[in-house]
Amino acid sequence: MKIIDLLNQNKITLSCEIFPPKPDVSLDHIHAVIQGISTLCPDFISVTYGAGGSTSKRTLEIAQEVQEEHGIPALAHLTCVASSRIQIDHTLRTLQEHNIKNVLALRGDIPEGHTPTSPWDFQYAYQLIEEIKTHGDFCVGAACYPEGHVECPSKERDIDYLKQKVESGCDFLTSQMFFDNTVFYQFLYRTLAKGIRVPIVAGIMPVTNSSQIRRICQLSGTVLPARFKAIVERFADHPDAMQQAGIAYATEQIIDLIANGVNAIHLYTMNKPEIARKITENLSDILQA
Ligand code: FAD
Repeated sequence: MKIIDLLNQNKITLSCEIFPPKPDVSLDHIHAVIQGISTLCPDFISVTYGAGGSTSKRTLEIAQEVQEEHGIPALAHLTCVASSRIQIDHTLRTLQEHNIKNVLALRGDIPEGHTPTSPWDFQYAYQLIEEIKTHGDFCVGAACYPEGHVECPSKERDIDYLKQKVESGCDFLTSQMFFDNTVFYQFLYRTLAKGIRVPIVAGIMPVTNSSQIRRICQLSGTVLPARFKAIVERFADHPDAMQQAGIAYATEQIIDLIANGVNAIHLYTMNKPEIARKITENLSDILQA
């Protein structure tokens, strides 16, 4: 099933994310993760793609397992920076052969020292979206950043580039994690003002340990609201309490989003089905409302 058809059904959707282990790590654990997340019956499961294609084979294997063994639509991430058109072409053909119809088209983070060598090289995600659309019947998603992408000097310009991705054929957007819903609502207003009309899935990260938070802020420049900082300061040294507080915080964020008409929620599950389970249990009646 195409994700855009799910999102257009005007009902609440909850999706989860899985990331493949590094190539030298066995897939045993990930089978249990897929099984655990599948039992929560998410509307779709996204599978990330290692920088520079380092886990590309595994993205495909996991997406296949999600669809064929668990009957859940898979969203295969695909990055284009530092990949040739031939490699991308091959990956898209392989996805097609395995009936994977949903792709999240990303640029990826630019590897250190990388410079494009030919005008044919991919520099931005919109070029990948255009390429995918020439390959036939894919449903294509792309990333968006409520606080602006870290490399972009202004939020205004970032939205212009987002519009370019949508005009290149992107069917829906999934947001970077955010911890302050007001930031997301303001972003939605800016996209509407720019004429962006595709569904936007809200990305929620349950933060359940303090080292995770440091990494997130370094990588994405995400701002932590005072209320969240207070939780971290108080509970960071108490792992069980931090986990409980992180789950409660993510649950509250989701309830507020749904109450304000945001129907599509994506959980950055970090390969932890037990955390996702606690959140879905907290939302059991809300997700049916
Ligand atoms: P783009 O949309 O190409 O934007 C990159 C930068 O270029 C931005 O600053 C933008 O403002 C600017 N820009 C865009 N178009 C133009 C233009 N025409 N001219 C000038 N500047 C422009 N990374 C992975 O490696 N694997 C994953 O699986 C993965 N999954 C992700 C899932 C989600 C939901 C999100 C939010 C991010 C994910 N990432 C992943 C991270 C992502 O690859 C990085 O954030 C990357 O730096 C940007 O990718 P993008 O597709 O948003 O790039």
